[in-house]
Amino acid sequence: MTEVIRTLQIRLEIPLDVAQRTIREFLDVCNYVSEVSFFKGCISNNIRLHRLTYAEVRARFKLSSQMSCNAIRHVASSYATLRTQKKTPQKPLVFKRFALPLQLVYDFSYQAKGLSLWTIEGRLKGIPLKIGKYFDQYKDWELGGATLYIKRNKVYLAQSVSKKMAEMPNTGNILGVDKGVNYIATLTDGSHFRFFGGGQTKQVRRAYTKRRASLQTKKAKRRTRSVEKVLQRLSGRESRFQKHTNHVVSKRIVQFAIVKGCTQITTENLEGIRERANELGKTMRKMINHWAFYQLQFFLEYKAASAGMRVERIDPRHTSRACSHCGYCDQANRKKHDFSCKACGYRLHSDANAARNIRQRGILARQALCQDGAQVNRPLSSDASA
Ligand SMILES: [Zn+2]
Repeated sequence: MTEVIRTLQIRLEIPLDVAQRTIREFLDVCNYVSEVSFFKGCISNNIRLHRLTYAEVRARFKLSSQMSCNAIRHVASSYATLRTQKKTPQKPLVFKRFALPLQLVYDFSYQAKGLSLWTIEGRLKGIPLKIGKYFDQYKDWELGGATLYIKRNKVYLAQSVSKKMAEMPNTGNILGVDKGVNYIATLTDGSHFRFFGGGQTKQVRRAYTKRRASLQTKKAKRRTRSVEKVLQRLSGRESRFQKHTNHVVSKRIVQFAIVKGCTQITTENLEGIRERANELGKTMRKMINHWAFYQLQFFLEYKAASAGMRVERIDPRHTSRACSHCGYCDQANRKKHDFSCKACGYRLHSDANAARNIRQRGILARQALCQDGAQVNRPLSSDASA
């Protein structure tokens, strides 16, 4: 069994200033408690810190008793984290992240008439919830804690939900996924290939890059406010586009895996990709430092987990230059999109070749696991040819 956790963003129709003042008060309490902890030698024990600060917090601030406990615990655990990292702060920790952690039942609860939530103005009841059809899929998930936050002058609740999923048996087929520039992802289940996010996506991304580059040179010459603004808007739009694309692609990868009877997805280990950067072209090097790449990996892993599927990461070295048919490895094998083996003459799209190599490494890793550390150096070539 694996536990899958999601965070759902729910818009709350409550007055902005009430939310702001509630969060502000919480942060003020945290900062007060933080000072006490610091000057007493960075107390990270919740009970000790509680004893030292609770009465004063209740007398000086307007938080409920439950909220006061939350704030104290919040501070204690922050100092505890520093302690485990063996760090000693030089001054009291400052709490400024404008968000309020909430405990289910104690600080908020879902009722027939809507949400009930503690605020500095007392308990608000019957807060209507804007919940779309999208949330239906989480109906039977278990509710956890939440965080109240504000974005663009609107109040939101980030509700965490979790569900225990039965893991699929690790005996089915393996899907190989290559992530790249030309295609965001290239998949193979051993006999079929699928390419994702080429064409239009690529054009849109390129247009953004171009536009940004031209604006940035303008900006370098003269820092005008309008240029600054356009850049900001552009980056927001671009990241939303990228996020949407990554959601769609990762979802389709998992669907493809299910349809093809795969129980495991194998992709490259991103850290490894950093190391093989020299093996790659300039655009690829740029891309691996890009957050979108990590976002796709993140989306893929959590979507796969929801389907009870494992995502294994393999060492990506030579996946783009080795032949997936005979195993011959040579930089000359690959010319951009075209992979043509100098040893056996095998030819196919270079991303498809990489996806096949990745899948084969996934198979080898699983076999090695089963055979207790058996070493195999050559890729399997038992797949039906492309
Ligand atoms: Zn070959």
